[in-house]
Formats: sequence, C-alpha cells, structure tokens
Amino acid sequence: MANVVAIVGRPNVGKSTFFNRLVGYKKAIMDNESGITRDRHYGYADWIGKNFTVIDTGGYVTNSDDVFEGAIRTQVDLALDEANIILFMVDVDAGLTDLDKEFAKILRKTKKPVIIVANKADTTEKSMMYGEFYQLGYDEIFCVSSQTGSGTGELLDKVVSHFPDPGIEDPDAGIPRIAIVGRPNVGKSSFLNAILGTERSIVTDIAGTTRDSIDTRYTMFGKDFIITDTAGIRKKSKVHEDVEFYSTIRAVTSIEESDVIILILDAERGMESQDINILRIAQERHKGVLILVNKWDLIEKDSKTIKAYTEDVLSKIQPNNHIPLVFISAINKQRIFQAIEKAIEVYENMSKKITTSELNSVLLAEIEKYPPPAIKGKYIRIKYVTQLPMHYPCFAFFCNLPQYIKESYERFLINKIRSHFDLEGAPVRLFFRKK
Ligand code: GDP
Ligand code: GDP
Repeated sequence: MANVVAIVGRPNVGKSTFFNRLVGYKKAIMDNESGITRDRHYGYADWIGKNFTVIDTGGYVTNSDDVFEGAIRTQVDLALDEANIILFMVDVDAGLTDLDKEFAKILRKTKKPVIIVANKADTTEKSMMYGEFYQLGYDEIFCVSSQTGSGTGELLDKVVSHFPDPGIEDPDAGIPRIAIVGRPNVGKSSFLNAILGTERSIVTDIAGTTRDSIDTRYTMFGKDFIITDTAGIRKKSKVHEDVEFYSTIRAVTSIEESDVIILILDAERGMESQDINILRIAQERHKGVLILVNKWDLIEKDSKTIKAYTEDVLSKIQPNNHIPLVFISAINKQRIFQAIEKAIEVYENMSKKITTSELNSVLLAEIEKYPPPAIKGKYIRIKYVTQLPMHYPCFAFFCNLPQYIKESYERFLINKIRSHFDLEGAPVRLFFRKK
C-alpha cells in the first residue's frame, strides 16, 4: 500500500498552508468562473528517505459559516478511504471549537492512526496551549507552526515511522515542467497544437488525479516533459484575451509552476516591452528560459538573418546572452522538435552538478589572473568555490571580505562560469560567504 497521509480539519486552521509547506511549493491557480483561488489537493513529499503522498481535504468543506455535517463527513470519508494516517488539524490560536468536536466524532470510527496537529503554535507561549485538545480523545498531539515550520520535523518523524516502506517517488519528479508564455497572438496555441499533432507524441492528461488537470504530460521522441498551463484562463473569451492584464496574470502563474519558460515572440514584431517584463519575472523566480521566434515563415531571409535577429533580441535583454533562441514556424511545424529538445536541454543545464575540484581548478585560476580590485587598501581573497545543492546553478565563493565584492566582479565570475561550463538558458546565482 502506498504511503498516504491526509490532512483534515475545519476551515482556516491552516491545512493548505501546512500542505504547501510539506509538498514544497505554493500552488494556487485562479478559478475561471468565481475568481477565487483553487488549491492543489494532492502532492508528494519525502522525509528521511520515505516518500509519501499528502492529501489536503480542505477543498471539500468550504470556508463558509454554514458547514454542515454532510460536508464534514465527505471530507473525512475521503481521507479515511485514501490515507493510512490522518492528521487532524486544529488551531491553538482559536482553541477548541464545536466544529473540531464534530470532526472528532466522525473520525472516531476509524482504526487508522490519527495524530492531532495543533497549528499556529508560532511562539513557545502558544505551543503550551494544546492541553484542551486532549478532550478530542487522541493521545498524540504535535504543536506546529505551518508559517514558521517549527515543530514540523518532529511531526514528520512520527508520520513516517508509520510507513514501513520507502514508498514511491513523485512520478513526475525530474521531468521538466515547461510553461509557454507570450503576448496574445504570437502563436502559443498554434505551437501547442503543433506538438499535439506530432505523430509520435503521446499525451496523458493528469486530470484531477495526482495533479491538477492543467498539467499535461507529453512523451515525444522518447523525451518526457510536462506543459503547465492555467487551463481555465485559456478558455477565457477572446475579449479578455486582448486585455494585457489577463495575459500577464496567466504568464506569472504558469511561470511560478515551471522549471523552464518558453517565451514565444512574433517574428514580425520582435522583442517588446511586455516580453521583457515576462523575462524579468522568470529571472526573479530563477527559471530557465528559452525564446522561440515564431512565424519565421513570414520573414524574408538570407544566410545572415538569424544571426542579425539574434543579436537584435539579445541586445534588448542585456546582460542575458545565455538565453537560447530557436526560430520556428508553428503553422509549418518547422523546428518544433528542436524547440522542445532545447527546452529540455535548458532543464538539464539547470540540474547540472559541477564538482568542487573542477570548479576550483578552473575558477581560482581565472581569479588569480584577474583578482577582485582592492578596496580602501584591503585585498579581497577568494579561497574556495563550491556549488550549492539548489534546483538551479548556485555557487558559494568563500572569501575574507565578502561585503566588498562588487557587482561588476560578480558579473565577471558569472561570465567565467558560463564560458567554462555549458549552462545555456539556466539562471546562475552567486553567494559570497566569509571563510
Ligand atoms: P485551511 O482553510 O485550513 O486550509 O487554512 P489556510 O491554510 O488557508 O490558513 C488559514 C489562515 O491561517 C491563513 O490566513 C493562514 O495564513 C493562517 N495560518 C496558517 N498557518 C498558520 C500558522 O502556523 N501560524 C499563523 N499565525 N497563521 C497561520
Ligand atoms: P496565441 O494567442 O499566442 O495562442 O496565438 P495563436 O496560436 O492563436 O495564433 C495567432 C495567429 O497567428 C493565428 O492566426 C495563427 O494562425 C497565426 N500563426 C501562429 N503561428 C504561426 C506561424 O508559424 N506562421 C504564421 N504565418 N502564422 C502563425
């Protein structure tokens, strides 16, 4: 049996905050009809070598005042059916409520382990206030703060002790999540259709099961990738599509959820200010980027056109020379596969691990040739470089006076890293630390 833990509890105790902390990312998309935020209810987590699925049952009881018994029962039944451990969440701030007692009453019928999670114990003082929850009839109470993360380690130790097996890993782990963004009419849907139309593409809609219906997993020429899209918003009427605001919101949401951003440009219009904004957002979120210049069929060209066009685009997004461009025609299905292949390559570059010895031998030599300039008579010595265990390339430089490293020198180091190690399309970030 799979390792599954469900979180139950009345509205507002912090279930989804806790869930987001466990599954490691915030996932909320705009609901098309109501404009309210809809959260992901399934996610994968791991703790000390055990993998497990987390279910947030919160969506089944809405945040209204008239929570009736039927709704609670539905929520609890769902948890009992699917999970082998129940986390019953309460709120130390609010204290014990009648609704908590309702949940306890319905939970009592199960033989599965129930752990009470007393949330919002943000301070030591608050974490002392759990005593009253013993009235719910369970011996195990863990105080946590979903906001600060305190107490979650102890709780997870307990949770995974119930799982004898390591469990299965997130089936989508390690598969690039790609977002396709761009101004209205650049050809985003045409590009997606071109992918769909490829004979050898296999599409799996991961509908409502483990992921939101908006994620589509593709296998194309033996490569797996997931395209994330704010599907509800895609169906918006054309009237709304014209509004800059909606396309920006849509872009931000899908950027948030992806590893690699494919920014599509219209070849006839080139790089425009909104595109530059989207790139800035992608970079702030440390995402990989690939630019597709679409409608290339409409451009009159000779052997120099691609080079000149590339230079023009890159000149508008300095200093981002590392972003690759692919010139495509979605309509003619020209270079569609190269585009996807390049996006996957960007993802692979993001997960590249460079050994410490390789980094030091290459970079310390560069630093010796061109050391950081002395400031106020003080010499800055960089002694050691290492890559940090992040989901994109981050490097720590250990030195005597980290605060004196100038931005221009940082840029120099980034350029050297890029010139020695192929990190095309991937963000690179440096940290300077005192040795
Ligand atoms: P749900 O309805 O049970 O899913 O609850 P939410 O996760 O939406 O949280 C309800 C409110 O409680 C939100 O305003 C959260 O920011 C807040 N909240 C959640 N966890 C904590 C916590 O650990 N400490 C504090 N102070 N507030 C929290
Ligand atoms: P979206 O709003 O970004 O999804 O753009 P669409 O995919 O709806 O395309 C907008 C318009 O551009 C449509 O009329 C398409 O037929 C046209 N279009 C898309 N891709 C190409 C292309 O590669 N070449 C040409 N000539 N037209 C294209």
